[in-house]
Amino acid sequence: MILPGAMLGVLGGGQLGRMFAVAARTLGYRVMVLDPDPNSPAGAMADEHLQADYQDPEALEHMGALCAAITTEWENVPARTLEALAHHCPVRPAGEATAIARDRIREKTFVRDLGLATAPFFPILASADLDSALAGLRLPALLKTATLGYDGKGQEEVSSREEAHAAFTRLGAVPCVLEEKVALHQELSVVLVRGVDGEVEVYPVGENVHRNGILHTTLVPGRVAPAMAERAIGMARAMAEDLDYVGVLAVEFFLTRDGELLVNELAPRPHNSGHYSLDACASSQFEQQVRALCGLPLASTRLLSPAVMVNLLGDLWTRGEPDWSRLLAQPEVKLHLYGKRQARPGRKMGHFTLLGADADANLALALSLHKEL
Ligand code: AMP
Repeated sequence: MILPGAMLGVLGGGQLGRMFAVAARTLGYRVMVLDPDPNSPAGAMADEHLQADYQDPEALEHMGALCAAITTEWENVPARTLEALAHHCPVRPAGEATAIARDRIREKTFVRDLGLATAPFFPILASADLDSALAGLRLPALLKTATLGYDGKGQEEVSSREEAHAAFTRLGAVPCVLEEKVALHQELSVVLVRGVDGEVEVYPVGENVHRNGILHTTLVPGRVAPAMAERAIGMARAMAEDLDYVGVLAVEFFLTRDGELLVNELAPRPHNSGHYSLDACASSQFEQQVRALCGLPLASTRLLSPAVMVNLLGDLWTRGEPDWSRLLAQPEVKLHLYGKRQARPGRKMGHFTLLGADADANLALALSLHKEL
């Protein structure tokens, strides 16, 4: 066990690293953040902010020498960085899980090889692959870059062969997946944590609504039949076990109108759809990340109250800082702002979580509070 007082490292300095740093420091650990951005949200909460490139050998040497264990908040940290650091101290989750989640081709292949369902997909490595893929699935489909896509970026909907070829060119002719667009009934996610000894704790299944490919709200508990929730949890557990995963793992699912449960994607870290756990659970996904990283016993994921989490995107800042007064006047709303200096449309600037016994009333009030902003 790595005990409080030790220095923990986190690769990536965004809001996830920030909330990890707060949880770690609350437990009495020290925190080092590696992120080249001098204004990084996590850097502001860290004991030490290493402002260097993710491949800077001196920075990695320093981090490896001082940290007792290292985690990531960003799956696009180069594999070589994780390998270099793993020579010094435990890196959790292991680079292999991060590598799978980083690449949609590997990710979907991993899920399928485990016998779990995904939307029908084909890897597209060159434009010649498009024609055989188009013969094998129904249109419309989504062409998604295999790597570096997030929040709906790096993907285009295509409805014909011509559109597919044009989209492939626009996306830079980089490796992609072509994936059937499925008729969604709901989007669900499972956030779990697995400890070094294989112990697993699971948060309640959340129901997610996306707008323009970006998470807008998470409702917990999700409005889903218990048997379906159990299936989703079972699938997420199977993935964690297969990877011998240590840390927080989030799995996003599509529940189709035909009642099929499909894996959309994995995140090898705390996830936006688990942010409600900061305020609505006995322990947050970030505390669990610290616990798993340090080999401590895992804590309880018990839901203390139904809740709705709403993301606050940069679009709300078009006319300056939003007026928070109505939101702050709500006694059961918790506002989280990430300290980002620049707002851009689609950029995640913060979120709020509303607690209340009545799930339907929570959703209605949360949406109206968001609309007022
Ligand atoms: P992704 O970045 O792949 O998670 O996609 C972002 C969002 O786009 C998802 O949460 C869905 O709302 C939507 N989406 C992505 N892929 C599909 C699909 N194959 N069928 C239907 N909707 C999708």
